[in-house]
Amino acid sequence: MVTARTARSLFSVCVASRPWSVWTSVCVGARWWEARGRQLYGAGAVWDSRKQASAGWGSRHQSTSAGWGSKKHAAKRKIQLQTAELMMDAEMEQQLAPLRASCKEQGDLVRKLKAEGAPEVDIKKEVQELKARKKELEDMILKLSPADTFDRAKMNDLIKRRFFYDNSFAIYGGITGQYDYGPMGCDLVDNLLAEWHKHFVIQERMLKVNCSILTPEPVLKASGHVDKFADYMVKDVKTGECFRLDHLIKQHFEKVMADKKTSAEEKEALSLTVARLDGMTMEEMNDLMRKHDMKSPLTGNNLTDATEFNLMFPISIGPSGNLKGFLRPETAQGIFVNFKRLLEYNQGKLPFACAQVGNAYRNEISPRSGLLRVREFTMAEIEHFCDPDDKNHPKFAQVADTEMVLYSGCAQMDGESAKRMTIGEAVHGSGLSSLGLLSTPAEVGALDRYLKERSYILEHSPSQADLVVWEALRQPPPSDLFHASRWYRHLSSFSERERLSLPGEKLMLEELTGGRQKGMVANETLGYYMARIQQYLLRIGINPKKLRFRQHLSNEMAHYACDCWDAECLTSYGWIECVGCADRSAYDLQQHTKGSGVRMCVERPLKEAVMVDSLAAQPDKGIIGKTFKKDAKAVQEALTALTIEQAEQMDKALTEQGEYELSGFKMTRAMVPSFKREQKKVFVEEIVPSVIEPSFGVGRVFYSLLEHSFRVREDDDKRTFFSLATVVAPIKVSVLPLSNKQEFVPFTTQLADALTDLNLSVKIDDSTGSIGRRYARTDEIGIPLGITVDFDTVNKVPHTVTVRERDSTQQVRMPIEEVPLTIKNLADGKTQWKDVTDKWPIFTSQETTK
Ligand code: AMP
Repeated sequence: MVTARTARSLFSVCVASRPWSVWTSVCVGARWWEARGRQLYGAGAVWDSRKQASAGWGSRHQSTSAGWGSKKHAAKRKIQLQTAELMMDAEMEQQLAPLRASCKEQGDLVRKLKAEGAPEVDIKKEVQELKARKKELEDMILKLSPADTFDRAKMNDLIKRRFFYDNSFAIYGGITGQYDYGPMGCDLVDNLLAEWHKHFVIQERMLKVNCSILTPEPVLKASGHVDKFADYMVKDVKTGECFRLDHLIKQHFEKVMADKKTSAEEKEALSLTVARLDGMTMEEMNDLMRKHDMKSPLTGNNLTDATEFNLMFPISIGPSGNLKGFLRPETAQGIFVNFKRLLEYNQGKLPFACAQVGNAYRNEISPRSGLLRVREFTMAEIEHFCDPDDKNHPKFAQVADTEMVLYSGCAQMDGESAKRMTIGEAVHGSGLSSLGLLSTPAEVGALDRYLKERSYILEHSPSQADLVVWEALRQPPPSDLFHASRWYRHLSSFSERERLSLPGEKLMLEELTGGRQKGMVANETLGYYMARIQQYLLRIGINPKKLRFRQHLSNEMAHYACDCWDAECLTSYGWIECVGCADRSAYDLQQHTKGSGVRMCVERPLKEAVMVDSLAAQPDKGIIGKTFKKDAKAVQEALTALTIEQAEQMDKALTEQGEYELSGFKMTRAMVPSFKREQKKVFVEEIVPSVIEPSFGVGRVFYSLLEHSFRVREDDDKRTFFSLATVVAPIKVSVLPLSNKQEFVPFTTQLADALTDLNLSVKIDDSTGSIGRRYARTDEIGIPLGITVDFDTVNKVPHTVTVRERDSTQQVRMPIEEVPLTIKNLADGKTQWKDVTDKWPIFTSQETTK
């Protein structure tokens, strides 16, 4: 998808009043937010190619990238603190409470002094005290949190040595931003995608497509990519090295902010500017660069003024060079352009979702953070098409209790941390439940009666969807509250005018909400996908303590999008956006309707037929056929699809100018001699579906997973390995004969074959190294289970082998014929290692040694 930076957003209501906030503010509703956005960011709506990950990428060397620079330590502490904050549980919070209260008290004092215009020296003294208290709090947070000893250099060494991935064309020096996956990387990616397919495509009964990568220009013109898929770029005047300007500015400011000499006020101002960056125009960024005298971070040379650089790779399709196009910058457009066919396949019904997995290409300006910013990457995208007036999801109740860490736009603007809450609360708000108004069945019954007697159900004819919600509301506890809040939301989505026309309705709704916070996630479908994304990421092994969902700020979000949340993983590069999840409204389908002339809409039955005016073109089919030949059908379709306003416009143009351009075809009066005005009875209305889009960057998920599962053995820091979950581990089990003696061979072969027959990937390592070395080798590539054939296997009856679990290195001994099914059940997640150790004796040493 293309996202835009604009000052417009449709944030849900947020109430914020925080002692630590950059602004102590109460923001109530979209209008406030919009006004605030304009005030802070200016009205200029600038498109961004996409969101950037939290890290800045401007530096040449991996180790100093991500804005770490020479202030690596400060940045590392900041990341450790962010992680630690997420890891705090109730008990730890209790220990922190006095320190937090002390900071708050001091913060309040500083603010009071400032508001009263106290002498500078007094304020400075109290600010110093505040800093000291904050440091004490931070130190305690770090002390309480489990130590994170991740070592990127060690992990990269393992990745390279065991060929998970490496620079493309390495023997020719390699190219930044391009990587080849080796055997382990390929298998891991395949397994991640296989789980993705099961989790989304199979379980959500989605459709799937596989579309062309070579995309003609008009498609990407319509989608907005040709004009707006660009970043601002500056160049080193001497070397010509290119930099992405927003990353360069961010990196520069982060360095200044990390400097002890920078005052607290300056830091606050710079951090505000960094938050504003996404919404800035090119001129504003240029001014910033000049004002702060920014130079090339690599050479110290001067930089040119910024230019806009479109990130798409241009191509010409075919030998003539006449058909211009681009390598696709995302897979989503392939789904949109096939919408009509997909809708037909789905028998004209909404909602439905379609998925596509494939490569996308973006000519990144300075891709310098390993797999995180590359020029060629795999995306797994879903486009869920739904009724714009009903974004409830039938399975939302199943995920409503899922706890998630959500970092709302309001929290970001107020300098607050992310909050843990259920997605049910996040979508429906806490209004009803926390009011206590509906805490008993009797109270829910009262609401039921109230709505039935006085609400819109009686005064308007309910739609099928209303009745479904109505029925759901009447289900027995414990879902009463949930459905009541859903019903409330359903009602509150009506326009003000509609609600006001219902006696008592407005009052009731206000009474119920009591001005409380509404849900911060725009709708159930968006919330449903966020919860499903989280379930997927946790299933494959992402560390739950290093996962959060961050809402886009108003200036990051495309003007047409209602709401957007990124699933971000914490890595040594900072918080990285791995999955975007956006409600894109009807934008994409509307754009392709305009661009192609093919109407991308769905017919929705009306409750009652209505009479409508129409202006139908009366074409001369003969002339159209002769003029346009094979395109005549498309022209006819475009004529039939004209709205009354378009038909009036075309009629006028043909009369006044003699010609009119219809979907790229030049039409003359002879082709459409007249238009006929008539009244038609219609039974359906046309709606353009809304699109909810989860968009996975597979390489980023893959990399985050590697970081989250990288381990170093406590007793030997040279023994590193990946603690990959069994579902995604490239190889599920190894078979290791104790030595290469001939008598082990039949057992090894028999076991390996039996495991392969169960579709388990097996590695036989019969090399000469010691068994310990061979275990270490299999651990390195994340093989979760290992079987050893030893002398007891050969000498004793019944024949037994040992089975070893990678993370604990524990071993059990069991009969050889029990092994394949035991491994299969472990690999499928049907049993756990504990079940195995409960059943079989722990192995310490073999009884026979030859
Ligand atoms: P976007 O369409 O920009 O929202 O990107 C969708 C997803 O693709 C993001 O959530 C990232 O995970 C991933 N992504 C975007 N750009 C890149 C890149 N240059 N390299 C790797 N992954 C990317």
